[in-house]
Amino acid sequence: MVRAALMLVESPTKARTIAHLFGRPFRRRLGPLTIYEAAIGGVIVGVAATQGHITDLITRGDRGVHGVEIRDGRFIPVYGVVRRCYNCGEQWADGGDRCPTCKSEDIFDKSEIIEAARRLAQQYNEVYIATDPDAEGEKIAFDLMCLIKPFNSNIHRLEFHEVTRRGLLNALRNKRSVDVHLVEAQLLRRIEDRWIGFELSMKLWERFGSRWLSAGRVQTPVLGWIVERTLEHRKKRNLLRIRLAGGLVIDILDPKNLEDLLKAWEEKRLRVRIRDLREEERVVNPPPPYTTDALLRDAFQYLRLTAANAMQIAQELFEAGLITYHRTDATTVSQAGLSIAREYLSQISPDLFTPRTYRVEGAHEGIRPVKPIDSEKLRYYIRIGLLAIPARRLTEAHYRMYEILCTLIPPPIH
Ligand SMILES: [Zn+2]
Repeated sequence: MVRAALMLVESPTKARTIAHLFGRPFRRRLGPLTIYEAAIGGVIVGVAATQGHITDLITRGDRGVHGVEIRDGRFIPVYGVVRRCYNCGEQWADGGDRCPTCKSEDIFDKSEIIEAARRLAQQYNEVYIATDPDAEGEKIAFDLMCLIKPFNSNIHRLEFHEVTRRGLLNALRNKRSVDVHLVEAQLLRRIEDRWIGFELSMKLWERFGSRWLSAGRVQTPVLGWIVERTLEHRKKRNLLRIRLAGGLVIDILDPKNLEDLLKAWEEKRLRVRIRDLREEERVVNPPPPYTTDALLRDAFQYLRLTAANAMQIAQELFEAGLITYHRTDATTVSQAGLSIAREYLSQISPDLFTPRTYRVEGAHEGIRPVKPIDSEKLRYYIRIGLLAIPARRLTEAHYRMYEILCTLIPPPIH
């Protein structure tokens, strides 16, 4: 008998990318789900996308504090099935057949996804849940597991760190059960989001009279810290900026005896002479591989992308099988990553590859390309059809972010 496995992922792009790794998949539909079936190492694998969160905290006022009941010192978050409004995009988990914001009846109920996934699970021998490899993905995996288990109890969690053949085989070798600790971490985070975010946002609305403003669990304390540091900085530091005739700007932070210096220069009518001008050559080590925060910083500085935009583009590059998972704080590079660098550099010159040793080999890596091609090659391969990206077309921003990730050096501004 041929074994068959159902693989559930969040996004349709990821589903298509996975299914296309092993040739042209067969496509069918069941309810709202599109299933791509392909033979992967003697196993028929059907890949389907459950499209993001299945459940979320309710907002109804009659159950606990912002959807969390407190009983005997225990916190009990109450989750409901997510519904989404086609008209205004609003998402909620309190039930009801009308959008709470725009009152439209044109809504999508995630129960339809659950129903289809349950029916689908009965058609396969086992179920793989391959949602993104972080706490949020673990929570979605947990939801799916709980909802599907009565229909197929042979459920495994897969972790993809790159959507490639290697990433898939690696994930299959390391299949595991859902990590309840990670799920708990995510539940706590969601409760904090809700409690802190909700209360602080209401303060903002009161103060500024605008419902567009929101305050979050993380960004609010960080903003406070930045304000504090800025005030401290203004209090203490002096910056002396000298603009020379040729346009060169020299900044001197905290010049010693600023008053004396200014006075002396004024008396002398600012005749500056350069006594010592040297040129030197230095070997500059490349910066470490990108973590999420470093990528966001450079995406803003060099590509003018907001954090939300940059994350969206990184997510699409990941799902298209071009980069490793983009939510990471690791700067390690796996053996696979090193061999990709070697392969790429050897095309340029045989002695360019000088690997650094990285700390522990773990599942998590920095963000890096998963193919030994740079952005120029990527454009070329896609143009001539050598590389089929089973997703929407890559935009200029995608290519430029990919370029940053390849070089670790910001691209020139066009
Ligand atoms: Zn609506």
